[in-house]
Amino acid sequence: MAVSVACGTICCMPVTAAKDDTAPLVSDTGVPLTRATTFRFTLDVNREQHRLLMAHAGAARLAFNHQLARVKANLDQRAAERTYDVADADLTPALSWSKVSLINHMNAWKDGRAADAPVSHDAAGEEVRGLPWRGEVSADVFECASVNAAQALKNWADSRRGTRAGKPAGFPRFKSRHKTSPAFRLRAKYPEGAAPPVRPTGPRALRFPKLGELRVRENTRQLRRLYETGRFHAYAASFRFERGRWVVAVTGVAAELHPARRDTRTRHQPRVGVDLGVQNLAVVADETGAVLAAVEGVKTLQHAQARLKLANQSYSRTKRDSAGRRRAARRLGRVHARVAHARKALLHELSSAIVKGHAAVVIEDLNAAGMLANRRLARVVSDASFGELRRQVAYKASWYGTALTIADRWYPSSKTCSGCGQVNAELTLSDRTYACGSCGLLLDRDVNAAINLARYPEPPTASPPLPAAA
Ligand SMILES: [Zn+2]
Repeated sequence: MAVSVACGTICCMPVTAAKDDTAPLVSDTGVPLTRATTFRFTLDVNREQHRLLMAHAGAARLAFNHQLARVKANLDQRAAERTYDVADADLTPALSWSKVSLINHMNAWKDGRAADAPVSHDAAGEEVRGLPWRGEVSADVFECASVNAAQALKNWADSRRGTRAGKPAGFPRFKSRHKTSPAFRLRAKYPEGAAPPVRPTGPRALRFPKLGELRVRENTRQLRRLYETGRFHAYAASFRFERGRWVVAVTGVAAELHPARRDTRTRHQPRVGVDLGVQNLAVVADETGAVLAAVEGVKTLQHAQARLKLANQSYSRTKRDSAGRRRAARRLGRVHARVAHARKALLHELSSAIVKGHAAVVIEDLNAAGMLANRRLARVVSDASFGELRRQVAYKASWYGTALTIADRWYPSSKTCSGCGQVNAELTLSDRTYACGSCGLLLDRDVNAAINLARYPEPPTASPPLPAAA
């Protein structure tokens, strides 16, 4: 079963269904590649490479904005005509904003074949149609940006029609050079038998189409091993310039883990509950009341947070447009990056330990959005990144064959006494200890909750579908 991880790569799938789309990808040893996964690296680029990456991001922004502007002009034109009572049949024809139409238009526009293609003059004064610099960047950037525009327009149209699930989307915004992080995406399409265009080329190097070999900070060993046995197939590489550095996310599908790594027999057998707390990032306990782990975590992040505050203060003390401000901004960016990294590393370590160490896990379905509305808690909760931890536990559980139960959000894990089952509705968040009025149990609040989660009654299996009406 495919597990969806992080950003979707759907926009980078081939637009027209090629015949090998339906054939499942397999590794050299015939293991199907079904595990959607993402590898992230921080790039170490020189000035020339930075310029090239920026040119790609600029092309993506230009393409996206051009598509939006074109569709918007068409919509405005038709709306204006309607106000003059032009009959529907006589209106300016509506533009299609399907992915295929946008890609086809983009290719004609940048190559100078479209009627509205940009026109410039070369050094000799000759007229040049299309984007004269288009060859400097990968053509894929224009296509991916067009696909993104098509998707954004579709989200908006679906919202208007009321057919979009989730948060309604407004008309897509134009991407500003100043307000959006430079970003672009390249697909990793290649014919069978050819070397993959996105691939590791050394312990700290990756190769990309058009960009060539780029140095990365992290070791590529894990990815290299997967490539060597054909156990990973990259779909796309997404680049983003954030906090003063370029990062790349290589998304694709990998083979299922080796059966030995999915074997749960050598792990802690009794079902465990994982309580995501405020004091402790997580407490793991089993049905018998044994505490298996208590991860403090939150403090580490609070220390990082304190450093962030200092960097923020020194930034605010600098003068606008001064060299000091630029220096302070760089420092602030580095601290931000460090905090983000520390958090990510901690969450991955924790989610892996939870999943790899136990045969069966129960975790709360926390209403993280609701908790964020509580301002006193907000910082700690966002620090602890509950939602992210749950997401990681969920996809890793399916990688490692761990049975996962998500406890109903109304299950009173904190308010129930793990000793006698009495429910104490008066328990508040500031009560760090659970004190039972019935049986006299005194227990750390998070431990009590974890034990209750471990004892979570399995939800009844879904009832079979109703038979068709006679
Ligand atoms: Zn009790």
